[in-house]
Amino acid sequence: MRVSEGDVEVEAPDPRDGSSEGAGDAVFFNPEMELNRDLTVAVLRAYAERTDAGAANVDSGGGERTLSYLDAMTATGVRAARAAEAGYDVTAADVDPEAADLARENLALNDLPGEVVESDANVLLHSERFDVVDLDPFGTPMPFADAAVAGTRKLLCVTATDTAPLCGAHFDSGVRKYDTVPRNTDFHREMGLRVLIGALSRVAARRDVAVEPICSHATRHYARTYLDLTHKATAADKALQWLGFVHHCEDCLYREHEFGRIAHPPEDCPNCGSARCSTAGPIWLGPIVDNEFVDAVADEVTPNMGEWKRVSRLLDALGAELDTPTHYDQHRLCKQWGAPANKLEEFLDDLRDAGYEASPAHYGGTCFKTDADVTEIREAAEPAVDTTGE
Ligand SMILES: [Zn+2]
Repeated sequence: MRVSEGDVEVEAPDPRDGSSEGAGDAVFFNPEMELNRDLTVAVLRAYAERTDAGAANVDSGGGERTLSYLDAMTATGVRAARAAEAGYDVTAADVDPEAADLARENLALNDLPGEVVESDANVLLHSERFDVVDLDPFGTPMPFADAAVAGTRKLLCVTATDTAPLCGAHFDSGVRKYDTVPRNTDFHREMGLRVLIGALSRVAARRDVAVEPICSHATRHYARTYLDLTHKATAADKALQWLGFVHHCEDCLYREHEFGRIAHPPEDCPNCGSARCSTAGPIWLGPIVDNEFVDAVADEVTPNMGEWKRVSRLLDALGAELDTPTHYDQHRLCKQWGAPANKLEEFLDDLRDAGYEASPAHYGGTCFKTDADVTEIREAAEPAVDTTGE
């Protein structure tokens, strides 16, 4: 079938055909990932602007340089084609010869320049370097993370679709893949994103590389992060200081976090005394976005993108989201208290009126962030039970 995304058109296998269920034989095309690709294009445009501005500041005299971009698991080549359209010097790689052929055809179909390589991502990334590398695997990206850090000069873009291991729902798999203790909490999407970034930061540190997440989100069934890399040991040391642990009470939903590589879990919940406290980590506790960069990305979202409205809403939410390492679910709290759930905006206004910071979380639904703890949230914002009998 012919698919059109942004300003490019590609041939792709119809995902409704039974043979193309992700790990099947046919080249994989996931229309669900259009939002992911739209946002990638906006990020790439904003990143090129930022790099040009940086180069002008140091007055290198070389003028603007086209950044190179590797789509390391290209499949149909749609992501690579869109990066080429955004002005990048594109290489598309796939280990599957059929996919490499299709990617080549799709670049040609759009008259876009770009090299297509039939190669395993790890082999390629250990032998060549690119300014920007995009890892968009089916499942976990971790088997490719070390090579990706080695092969990336500046920006590493990573998708993970294995949300169950990431958020601790598949605990053993999460421990193996991400070398951490993930916990299945009521803030599971945030847990997944921070397990992913934490694991990538440790892999990068082994190569004296620091990661700075400049845009990250958890949407539907995947987590995605854009990591600005600094190849410097002292910077890597500093980045590792953002790692730490979250202690979480399964009964009252109280949570607290601590930085460092050694955990000091409370014996019992400091809030309700329950012994059912669990600790997750090490995970990334630092910022997951650079607000200035997110604003710049929002300026690069254009109406020719199929998902531009949702991407814009997502970026607005990311820009306004409080920088705390966990979020709460308003409905879960209200259920816990036996209180009726009111509108999230009302609930957040009550928190702000009581002097706390509060924002919706980009994860959507009834997720929010605040600097109040669970008791303070209840005191400030518990909706009254309607006793008028109506
Ligand atoms: Zn508790």
